[in-house]
Amino acid sequence: MESTLTKHTPANEGYPATTHIPYLPSTIVVSSIRRKLLATRFRIQDISLLMKHVSKADSLPKLIKKARALRQLFYGTKSIRKVAQVDGRYYWTHHCPGWPSVAYKDFMHNEINRLVTHPQVPIHPYIAFFAITKKCPLGCEHCFEWDNLNKREKLSLSAIMQIVHTLQDKGITQVLFSGGEPMLRVHDIVEVLKMARPVTDFWVFTSGYNFTAQNARLLKEAGLTGVSVSLDHYLEQEHNTFRNLANAYQLAINAVVEAHKAGLVVSLALCATKAFVTEENLMQYARLAKRLGVAFVQLLEPRAVGHYIGKEVELNPDQIQLLTSFYEKLNLDPAYADWPIVVFHGYHQRKAGCTGAGNRFLYIDTDGDLHACPFCQKKSGNLLTNSYEEGVNCLKARGCHVFATANPQ
Ligand code: SF4
Repeated sequence: MESTLTKHTPANEGYPATTHIPYLPSTIVVSSIRRKLLATRFRIQDISLLMKHVSKADSLPKLIKKARALRQLFYGTKSIRKVAQVDGRYYWTHHCPGWPSVAYKDFMHNEINRLVTHPQVPIHPYIAFFAITKKCPLGCEHCFEWDNLNKREKLSLSAIMQIVHTLQDKGITQVLFSGGEPMLRVHDIVEVLKMARPVTDFWVFTSGYNFTAQNARLLKEAGLTGVSVSLDHYLEQEHNTFRNLANAYQLAINAVVEAHKAGLVVSLALCATKAFVTEENLMQYARLAKRLGVAFVQLLEPRAVGHYIGKEVELNPDQIQLLTSFYEKLNLDPAYADWPIVVFHGYHQRKAGCTGAGNRFLYIDTDGDLHACPFCQKKSGNLLTNSYEEGVNCLKARGCHVFATANPQ
């Protein structure tokens, strides 16, 4: 039987796709009054968290000044006022847990702890990308896991649980499950979520494969926060070719629809290739993202690793400038106040340095080995056989080979 998502429909104007592209309700808070009230509530809560770190060496005004300087280091002087609301929680960016939550408070304490003269606890990362499977039915042009794909699994369910348990104990407040295609282990993810303590936001990074209505519901009920769906073009055929799967576009759109229905935060991840990065393409993509009601659009720069190894895929300075202008336009221009929030890690990296390599985030591969990030892979200890601290210290010592490491450490 033909799926409702494959029926050709004139409602696809602007997107010549056989996949039906629905108009989904926006998750961005549109009212400027509501946004201002939220910002005030937020500021009050952040000051109350800062007060917990006041000491002889750090008065409250001094801490507020340091916090402002840190924010400006990463974001510049203009504040992004946009916020998404999903299932009673608010989300400003991908890099921070939803508010209110225990994870958000722990995240803030972690950031403030970096600012104080005498940190209360050792400075530690708080985001973990965790590749839980080597299996994947796609064959994407840019895949950074290409050399490990479809080999024998090394991580059992109990090994994944052990690692997640360690991450939670060490203060990780966001765990992002990737792969391979993590949805091939959806029942294991559900078991892990049921076992985990509610002090962490969990996300799944998926191509959309196996992201059915039933699986979306199971994940939400087990405690999943959000899903990042890879969509590399607004045009169906272009995405299918890039992903080397005839129905990749349909799977991705279907995943967005089902994640929405299940009450998950939804993000689209775009690998912004040399061929894609034009102002027109970026705006067409943003229009599609708005139509799909997603909270975030995440821009990823191609890197010459995995399937791209030895290829000249890095963007030129003009293209990076186009991404930067797109990021600023969508996030700061009031004309786009109800469009999705754009997340561009490279924007902050170029201003403030790399936050990977154990600084604020780390990567765990399908063998349980630690790496600086999904793109800069160099084994730095194993979470099943070595101590977490040793591994993280090794990551910090090696740092990032592309950008300087962000401060403060
Ligand atoms: S990028 Fe992801 S979906 Fe594509 S082949 Fe690699 S693991 Fe599979």
